[in-house]
Amino acid sequence: MGSGESFGIAGKWKGVLSYWFLQWVLLCLALVLLVSLGGGMTLDGAVAVSIAATVWAGLISFGQLAFVLDADKVGGAREVGRLRRGISRLAASLLATLLCLHIWWLIIGLGFEAAGVYGDPFTVILLGGTGICFVGGLVGWSMVFWGFLAKGRREERYALLAKRLLLGTGVCAGCCLALGFFGVLIGGDADVLVAVLAYCIPAVGGGAIAMLGCVLYLTRLARARAPWYETHCAACGYDLSGNLTVTQCSECGSAWKGGLEVIRGA
Ligand SMILES: [Zn+2]
Repeated sequence: MGSGESFGIAGKWKGVLSYWFLQWVLLCLALVLLVSLGGGMTLDGAVAVSIAATVWAGLISFGQLAFVLDADKVGGAREVGRLRRGISRLAASLLATLLCLHIWWLIIGLGFEAAGVYGDPFTVILLGGTGICFVGGLVGWSMVFWGFLAKGRREERYALLAKRLLLGTGVCAGCCLALGFFGVLIGGDADVLVAVLAYCIPAVGGGAIAMLGCVLYLTRLARARAPWYETHCAACGYDLSGNLTVTQCSECGSAWKGGLEVIRGA
């Protein structure tokens, strides 16, 4: 292990690969459950489920990589990579936006289903509203996350954001379930709930599994990297080990208390 990796997680790849494998197994099981709900499982169905689960797991892993990109590549040389930062924030905003859109689609779909209206007004409101909600959500969530992530240690902030997004998937699942039960009430047909579940589980369940992986990874990363902050500015990454008595970072001017803790411990 090189000196640059001393603030990383020991056994990182073993942990990541184990989680990815577990993630794939969980997704396979979820799909089997969904297919069984839809009516029976055949051998051909099992093959199709495996392929679908693999694609699904690939997409989730891609999202996880994007989410941790900004926090992952710091430590020995903590430069701010604008591209990495943008990708991570976009991944977080996309997940939050998709969760909100799910509830929107359900409300509109069930509303029109209850009113018995199909065709033009349904399509126009669904697509138009979806477009507006998507752009608005992406911009809105990006602004919220931008301010939230700018404070403090990067991996800690991302870990906290992942925890909140995990909570968000729980809230979204609760809303979808409530809407499903509401649909059964107004439609008088239990199949509505099955349809709502089949519609929600892939995105909401996938989002939860994705964020759980990020929480586990980033929490360990934050713990492993804590010693690095004793000699480096959390805001800009400047190495302050030359003079640990300063109260402000000599590079960016941020308040700095790490050095005091080091001196007291000496
Ligand atoms: Zn600084």
